[in-house]
Amino acid sequence: MQRGGSSSLKLIIAAIIVVFAIVKYYSSAEMNDITGEKQYISLSKDQEIALGINSAPEMAKEFGGLSTNQSYQDLVNSVGKRIVQKSVAAQSNYPFQFYVLADNRTVNAFALPGGPIFITEALLTRLENEDQLAGVLGHEIGHVIARHSAQQMSKQELTQGIVGAATMATGDMNSAQYAQLVGNMINMKYGRADELQSDELGVKFMLQSGYNPKELIHVMDILEEASGGSNVPEFQSTHPSPANRRAKIEEAIIKHQ
Ligand SMILES: [Zn+2]
Repeated sequence: MQRGGSSSLKLIIAAIIVVFAIVKYYSSAEMNDITGEKQYISLSKDQEIALGINSAPEMAKEFGGLSTNQSYQDLVNSVGKRIVQKSVAAQSNYPFQFYVLADNRTVNAFALPGGPIFITEALLTRLENEDQLAGVLGHEIGHVIARHSAQQMSKQELTQGIVGAATMATGDMNSAQYAQLVGNMINMKYGRADELQSDELGVKFMLQSGYNPKELIHVMDILEEASGGSNVPEFQSTHPSPANRRAKIEEAIIKHQ
């Protein structure tokens, strides 16, 4: 009787923990003003921003540090800033920062939560014009604004019942923990829908800031060519095929023009 009692007590406690996690997840529903979506995110915007800023140096380290080519850095900065300032992205109030990574072999670009955006020299030097760069950066800005990383982290928190992404962002982490987190974020796969949404947001931002969104389609060609090697870019790391993405980008151009 007593043994049975204690194991059912354990069950009750386990059930309370699960219910608490679920309630916490669903009570975190928030409206995203720019995408118009309802999202379940346990990180606040400030926590996202802190997490991104604190993780940025580790992220740079993973890719051979920042590029020493100042003209690359200036170009990426000016295109990134123009997109943010002249599009609805400005309303997000995220402190976007744009970095060129020294890595000249890995064709990649990615965003950390809350604003830091990176592009490798390998990808940058393959791009043929400023509009294509705007396409890459617009897509990454889309990931930040749609809060895809934070959303993924919130889902993981729910499923794994881990301590809570919230405490990770409060600054009690050491650099080893940031390194691990960055590792997770590099390997984090956005869903197919997230990638397509970022493409669409990218198109919208490009149009609003005066770039030619058709060049984002050519970026797909460049990525496809580059992925002949073993390095799969974030840009096409997940499910949508380049053909599918091209078709959706065409649709988005017509929709937002
Ligand atoms: Zn992406």
